[in-house]
Amino acid sequence: MATKRDYYEILGVSRSATIDEIKKAYRKLALKFHPDKNKGDVAAEEKFKEATEAYEVLRDEKKRKMYDQFGHAGVSGQASSEGFGRGAYTDFSDIFQGGTFEDLFENIFSGLGGFGGQRTSSGGQRGGVRRGSDLRYNLEVNLEDVYHGKEIKIQIPRDEHCEKCNGSGSADGKISTCTTCGGTGQIRKSSGFFSIASTCNTCGGTGSMIKNQCSVCYGSGLVSKKRTINIRIPHGIETGTRLKVSGEGEAGPKGGPAGDLYVVIQVKRHAKFEREGADLITQYEIPVTMAILGGEVEIETISGSTVKLKIPTGTQPSTIFRVRSKGLPYMGGHDRYGDLMVEAIVKVPKTLSAKSKQLVKELEEELMSNSGFFSRFK
Ligand SMILES: [Zn+2]
Ligand SMILES: [Zn+2]
Repeated sequence: MATKRDYYEILGVSRSATIDEIKKAYRKLALKFHPDKNKGDVAAEEKFKEATEAYEVLRDEKKRKMYDQFGHAGVSGQASSEGFGRGAYTDFSDIFQGGTFEDLFENIFSGLGGFGGQRTSSGGQRGGVRRGSDLRYNLEVNLEDVYHGKEIKIQIPRDEHCEKCNGSGSADGKISTCTTCGGTGQIRKSSGFFSIASTCNTCGGTGSMIKNQCSVCYGSGLVSKKRTINIRIPHGIETGTRLKVSGEGEAGPKGGPAGDLYVVIQVKRHAKFEREGADLITQYEIPVTMAILGGEVEIETISGSTVKLKIPTGTQPSTIFRVRSKGLPYMGGHDRYGDLMVEAIVKVPKTLSAKSKQLVKELEEELMSNSGFFSRFK
């Protein structure tokens, strides 16, 4: 696993999924990757744990909200304080009816110790230095930002190495091998007819123990900080694009390398322009007289400047005019731009003065007698 995956992606559900859909998706995965069915298959075990972690967060309205806003950073810190891992294993009775699976889950969860409370270390090996978690941050940008490109400062809560102990967690720098697991960071447990490797509770999977804990970080080597990071928004960026900022994720425990930060872009709806790839669509109101006689209008573009548009004589309602290269830049497209599509909305006056009425009547009579236009309306 190179990165900490998105919880919704793990469960294969949409971001708007209902709790029932989430339950269903988790149940399917849990049954498939259950350690009982995949004896000794470490990949399946990881998948099972991953799905369970995702489910633990998304089933809880509060945690889900935090996750939607801050990504993994929003929920990882709560793990230990709210105890959604160690000891307090999830109540699955609403998902798995019947005793068999509940029993199995109980065994597994008590065996795994605090897997929920622990950050998933990505790419790290057990018993050694572990890499910090990747973080996900959802960032909303304006369509103007998409056009011009922009640098945006974001604030992320994350774990950083404790400065007092240099991230070691030890007050005096002395670190010894964990006596419970012998430095492997794992405990193998057999429970009935299957055996499973679980993270050592004593050392939290690091394989080492600290006699004199650092007074600032209490032995974790990590402290929570709010960090401001500059994000460069490239021209033409689209919703769903993930910007990777290497090394700006959480610091690894016990001096391990930091994970990465992933900024997921959501482009906000614009009041005037609708986006279709690099093309923009806008509406422009013209009076019925201009539709009949023709004219010229000034259209606002996303760049902030205006462009002149010729309205031909006899323009029909909802005619779409294409203004070349006045749309959005193509992402990485070397100064190539999409088009601006202008839909002409023909406005008809709702009330008329006596004089206007008279003039329109005259126009009607003229058209009736001299042009073929009205013949089909007779
Ligand atoms: Zn240990
Ligand atoms: Zn410290």
